[in-house]
Amino acid sequence: MKPLAPGSTIGILGGGQLGRMLAIAAAQLGFDVCIFTDEPDSPASRVAAKTIVGNYLDTAALADFARRVAVVTTEFENVPAQTAEALIAAGARVAPCPNALAIAQDRFDEKSFLQALGIATPPFAAINSQADLETAVERIGLPAILKTRRLGYDGRGQIRLKSEADVAGAYAKLGAPGILEGFCAFEREVSIIAARGWDGAIVHYDLCENEHEGGILSRTTLPAKVNAAVQGAALEAAEKVLHAFDYVGVLTIELFVMADGSLIANEMAPRVHNSGHWTIEGALTSQFEQHIRAVAAWPLGPATRLAQIEMLNLIGEDADAWLALAADPNARLHLYGKRDTRAGRKMGHVTKLIV
Ligand code: AMP
Repeated sequence: MKPLAPGSTIGILGGGQLGRMLAIAAAQLGFDVCIFTDEPDSPASRVAAKTIVGNYLDTAALADFARRVAVVTTEFENVPAQTAEALIAAGARVAPCPNALAIAQDRFDEKSFLQALGIATPPFAAINSQADLETAVERIGLPAILKTRRLGYDGRGQIRLKSEADVAGAYAKLGAPGILEGFCAFEREVSIIAARGWDGAIVHYDLCENEHEGGILSRTTLPAKVNAAVQGAALEAAEKVLHAFDYVGVLTIELFVMADGSLIANEMAPRVHNSGHWTIEGALTSQFEQHIRAVAAWPLGPATRLAQIEMLNLIGEDADAWLALAADPNARLHLYGKRDTRAGRKMGHVTKLIV
């Protein structure tokens, strides 16, 4: 593909904060952005040149979107597979490829795919009934986590099973096809963020160390407290996935680091990631700019980290402290322009650099 000239329009499926930060990065490189979202007044649409508000299954609206943009990318992986198919049928170029989206949407397909590439995962089993769950618990053991196969995020759609008493009735409580995963007593959680360009070039960021509260990312720090071998193993996993999909764009893999230094993959996100927000101030090229460069067939930028980093998510009412955070010379404040504050909702983040 020829590099897209500045002034071209990049289409983004999804209107959340990731789309907002992608749109800002695209604007810095001289692109216009057109957002397609089913949400009126979305965080991304308020910084984009154009927004189409429509249903993700509305083929006429998608065809209109496809006509207006030079390439389509996504800011969330739960875009229906039919959406990408309709866009391709309408002549759009879609990056990353719809297959990566489809696999990342289903926790069972995702773990099967990672295992087939030789990337370790927790032991897992597909669960379609209480009987399946009981058989799987016998094989995998307890503690374990029962998750919905699809549409789970930020710890939603998950039930922790510690004892046999938790297993009774758990499938009905989940209320959807599931996956049982063995519980990994990890030492730390990390993520590898890497990008692949149209020409196959790959760049990667330093490993991010992540802490969660109630299943939601709360804090990312760098450097991660791991040795070079762990960083190397994480990069190897990312490279395998990038090559397998002939991937174009930024990809994230969340990993558990075990006591012996081995890595177990939790999930992959075919997109920019919350644990990479630090790259806006903390790396020579942010993950958002990197993704835009990749989908626009531009050369990738250097991912060099500039400082020690602490990134804190502002969840729910945390963002009410915006004035104090704005007054803190050590905190770079980002607010996502969400109209309502709700418990558990990502409202913004701050990045602290120790240079
Ligand atoms: P997820 O939505 O699958 O990323 O899960 C959210 C968080 O729950 C993860 O970041 C982990 O802290 C924890 N978690 C998920 N799966 C497992 C597992 N198999 N073993 C241990 N902790 C897990």
